[in-house]
Amino acid sequence: MASHKQIEELKEMLIERKNIIQSNIDDSMDNISKLHDCDCKDDLDFAEASSDSFTSGIIINQQKQELKEIDEALKNIENNTYGICEMCDEMIAIGRLKAKPFAKFCTDCREIHENNNQ
Ligand SMILES: [Zn+2]
Repeated sequence: MASHKQIEELKEMLIERKNIIQSNIDDSMDNISKLHDCDCKDDLDFAEASSDSFTSGIIINQQKQELKEIDEALKNIENNTYGICEMCDEMIAIGRLKAKPFAKFCTDCREIHENNNQ
């Protein structure tokens, strides 16, 4: 089981990651609004600008999803339910949490979960 100190470390990692993602999202939002402001008379410019904003939109969605998972992990830390697999209620290995601090499933269940989603 993860010790109190290890959880504190993971919590710091989560908060740090959260800040990075939040500023990434803010930057992307800025870029998208700049693109919308620009006066694209050239069709090619417009196509490029819209494909850029399309890509940014996908990235923002992915980052928002990650942000949500980080928030859930932080909430679990507060509730002392952090690091417990949502499927089998087993403790998630500390090595896995260090690699992915907002992991919701243990390695076994993640495989099952991913196979089900294919
Ligand atoms: Zn599990």
